[in-house]
Amino acid sequence: MDLPFIKVENVSYSYRGEGDAAIRVIKELSLEIDEGEFVAVLGHNGSGKSTLAKLLNMILTPASGKIFIEGKDITDENMSEEEIFALRKNVGMVFQNPDNQLVATIVEDDVAFGPENLGVPSQEIRRRVDEALSKVGMTEYAHHEPHRLSGGQKQRVAIAGIMAMLPKCIIFDESTAMLDPIGRREVMSAIKKLNSEMGITVIMITHYMDEAAMANRVVVLDDGRIALDGTPSEVFEKEELLRSMGLDVPQCTALVHRLRRAGIALEGECTDPEKCADLIATALGKELGNG
Ligand code: ADP
Repeated sequence: MDLPFIKVENVSYSYRGEGDAAIRVIKELSLEIDEGEFVAVLGHNGSGKSTLAKLLNMILTPASGKIFIEGKDITDENMSEEEIFALRKNVGMVFQNPDNQLVATIVEDDVAFGPENLGVPSQEIRRRVDEALSKVGMTEYAHHEPHRLSGGQKQRVAIAGIMAMLPKCIIFDESTAMLDPIGRREVMSAIKKLNSEMGITVIMITHYMDEAAMANRVVVLDDGRIALDGTPSEVFEKEELLRSMGLDVPQCTALVHRLRRAGIALEGECTDPEKCADLIATALGKELGNG
């Protein structure tokens, strides 16, 4: 049997609060993620999403429980520096604020920074930088200054920088939260592509339901535990439960649920606007053309 790429086993984590009191934010959480999956993580503010991401990226160490990446125990305290370094390389992370992630004064130098630190030979760096910039659609900006780019462009450069280190998995921690709608679309399209075309495992923390609907799997955290785990369609079906946890469903899903409650028979998935339009058109006995 194939090992899961990531296996989180009964993990708990606490921060130190006032008077050194432990505040438990991840509570005996177990989760398995296979290589090549595109998993969206949803949850109310404070539900533990970022903490989980930092545990997977080895920024934090669990108080109890174990985390395995490709079968290797990343919580093993006896690991050598080299082992830690090699494991960290597998899981890249893209954060919320693009300005905090860019280090160089020219885009291509920025993308080269990660592989340079890994000691990759310069010819290979050149190849990786070109490929990563091409994948995120930023080739023509290779010689530009990062600080002059739009938010979406900066974030795509940050993604290229992580891609150039060839991680097997990239965690996005609300990486579109500071972007305008165009920037969000650009970044989402880059994320989708690196999953579908390069097979990189994607874990994407977001509070945008339409973004979560683009994943293959949605995991919902509530108070440090997994409340729901399934396909976007399975998870968004549970509109009432999600609302009770302070979460939404995509607007088009809410629309279809409302019509169903009014007695209109709409059969099928309703996680994106096109599917919803099809359901409604079918119910009206019409067929939608292209466009
Ligand atoms: P989310 O990403 O879902 O918003 P977090 O993982 O950031 O949740 O936070 C979970 C809980 O842990 C929150 O209640 C938050 O206030 C608390 N927390 C996060 N970071 C720290 C920290 N460095 N010190 C103390 N408490 C923290």
